[in-house]
Amino acid sequence: MAVIPVSAQYIPNPDRYQSIEYRRCGRSGIQLPLISLGLWHNFGGVDTMENCRAMLRTAFDLGITHFDLANNYGPPPGSAEETFGKILAKDFLPYRDELIISSKAGYWMWNGPYGEWGSRKYLVSSLDQSLKRMGLDYVDIFYHHRPDPDTPLEETMGALDYIVRSGRALYAGISNYRPKEARLAIQILRQLGTPCLIHQPNYNMFDRWIEKELLNVLDEEGVGCIVFSPLAQGMLTDKYLHGIPADSRAGKPETFLKPDNITDQILEKVTQLNRIAGELNLSLAQLAINWTLRQRVVTSALIGASRPAQIEEIVAGVAQPALSNDILEKIEEILSS
Ligand code: NDP
Repeated sequence: MAVIPVSAQYIPNPDRYQSIEYRRCGRSGIQLPLISLGLWHNFGGVDTMENCRAMLRTAFDLGITHFDLANNYGPPPGSAEETFGKILAKDFLPYRDELIISSKAGYWMWNGPYGEWGSRKYLVSSLDQSLKRMGLDYVDIFYHHRPDPDTPLEETMGALDYIVRSGRALYAGISNYRPKEARLAIQILRQLGTPCLIHQPNYNMFDRWIEKELLNVLDEEGVGCIVFSPLAQGMLTDKYLHGIPADSRAGKPETFLKPDNITDQILEKVTQLNRIAGELNLSLAQLAINWTLRQRVVTSALIGASRPAQIEEIVAGVAQPALSNDILEKIEEILSS
């Protein structure tokens, strides 16, 4: 892929706050852009620094104030935070107070019993490592990345409370928690005096588990919701309709999206959804994102990207009129067929 050289000195777009809307995150003081950018893929040690830098600049120029990381993003694990730290130092330090930067711990990060899951030992050490890699004094949001069946929830939530009180993070979040454990975690955090700002679950047209109960729990508890993989890792675009491009996620090794995931049944639905998008003068990616944002409780759609133009396209799409009931019904028919 050709990478357009970026200029040495970064001067952000002065009109950046006119490009995108912001939604309040639960009952908190924080507002998040309708689109946030995640650094899970395409920001690792194996990726091109100039492309990473161009994507972050494009995002910020479009009013995307929220960048989402985790200890293990790369590959190798930790390298996305290092990449982000380098670009932050070059381009974004003067704008630190305009940014919401998040990180997480929960998945495997180092050997031995203290390198994953939900102990206080792991969470605090991991965040200290993340801060060092990014060159930050604090993150804005620190998440427990996945529930731990073997550590008492009180210990994990107590660790998040300590992390906020110690100044390492401004807000606490949880990710991948199911409705019952989410409610419990939120209640424990509230009792400790560190309200849960946000939950980060997966949500897209092909994976709708949060509709059943979680969205109601978050609404009742006043907790925000940022949905990850809203494009089903790229399946909800037109890119796989004629095979698997070598430079796509499914075409690359070491990713979670395998060619086998893109079944004929998926492609049939994607073809029909793509037709609806075309009738609305939207790309399928734009339609899929706007569909997630129709949920009032969803604060932000957390996308990934492999090039700046993808971010531009998604942001242009959210400026379009809301999807009508008629269109939503047609989508429903396709998804339930
Ligand atoms: P998406 O579903 O948005 O998939 C991103 C991929 O979609 C891109 O890499 C790109 O694929 C493709 N894409 C994006 N925009 C376009 C476009 N306009 N046109 C065509 N293709 C497009 O999200 P991710 O799966 O990347 O997840 C997003 C973020 O969510 C992560 O970076 C991370 O921050 C977070 N996350 C959190 C998890 C958790 O457990 N809490 C788990 C997973 C993700 P291609 O690379 O092929 O070009």
